[in-house]
Amino acid sequence: MKSRSIYRSKPDHVAAAAEARAQRGVWVPAALYPARESAAGAAKRVRRAEGLRAYGPAGAFEAYVASHADGWALWVRWVAGDEPVPALPDAMTVRVTSRGDGPGYSGVGIITVTVAARCPQCGGPRGWDTVAPIRFPEDGEWYTADKWTNPCGHMDLYASVLREARTRPVPQPVAERPPAALPIAAPPAPGSPAGIVLAAAEERRGMHAAQAARLLHDLGMPEAAEVIRTEMAARKGHMSAKAAAHYLHAGGAR
Ligand SMILES: [Zn+2]
Repeated sequence: MKSRSIYRSKPDHVAAAAEARAQRGVWVPAALYPARESAAGAAKRVRRAEGLRAYGPAGAFEAYVASHADGWALWVRWVAGDEPVPALPDAMTVRVTSRGDGPGYSGVGIITVTVAARCPQCGGPRGWDTVAPIRFPEDGEWYTADKWTNPCGHMDLYASVLREARTRPVPQPVAERPPAALPIAAPPAPGSPAGIVLAAAEERRGMHAAQAARLLHDLGMPEAAEVIRTEMAARKGHMSAKAAAHYLHAGGAR
C-alpha cells in the first residue's frame, strides 16, 4: 500500500487537491502546521475554497485537523458529486488485551476502550471500518480482542491504545433518549438548524450528513452539528443531510 505518512515539507495544495480528486472520498494528507490555529484556518479555507483555488468550488472538499507527531496535520478529501461518502467518526471502540502494569506475567485481560478514530502518528483516519474480532488462546482459555488496519500504514499496539484511552479520553456519544413524543407536523422553521440543513439538502442532491454537520458548525451552531455527528456515528456513517434535518427536527432523537 502506498504510504500517506510522508508529509510535504511545504504545503503543496495543488498536489494534495489533485491526489484527493483522483480518489473521491479518500482522506489525503495536505499539509503540516506547527500551530493548531494555522491548520484550522487552512481547513476552513479548504472547505470554502477561499484563497486556495485548487479546492474549488466551495464545498467540493472536506477537511479536518488532527494532532501529528510533528505538529498539526491537515487532511482533506474530495466529496463533490451526488453519491454520499461515508462519514468519518470521531471515535472508535475496540477490545484490546491488557497484561497488567507491573513486572512479571500476570495473565491477560480484555478491556474495551474508546479512542480517537485518528492515527496518533500522522492524524490520518484510523481503520475504524476494518475493526474485526480476533480470537486467541492463552493459558488454556480463548479470548477475543479486535484488530484493525490503519490506511496510513502506522500500526497501533494494544499497549499504546490502552495508554491513549487512559490519558486522552474522547467525548462519549450521548445516551439514547426515548423517541420524540409528538409526530412531526410542521416543517422546520427557516433559519433553525433543521431548516438550514433541509434547504441545503434540497439545493444539493445526495448531500451527506457530514456536510450538514460541517455547514452548521461553520454557521456557528456547533451543538446541532454535534447532534448530527453523534447520530451519524451510531448509523456508521449511513446518513444523508435530509435524514439529519429530520433527525434534528424530531428533537435529535427518535
Ligand atoms: Zn498514521
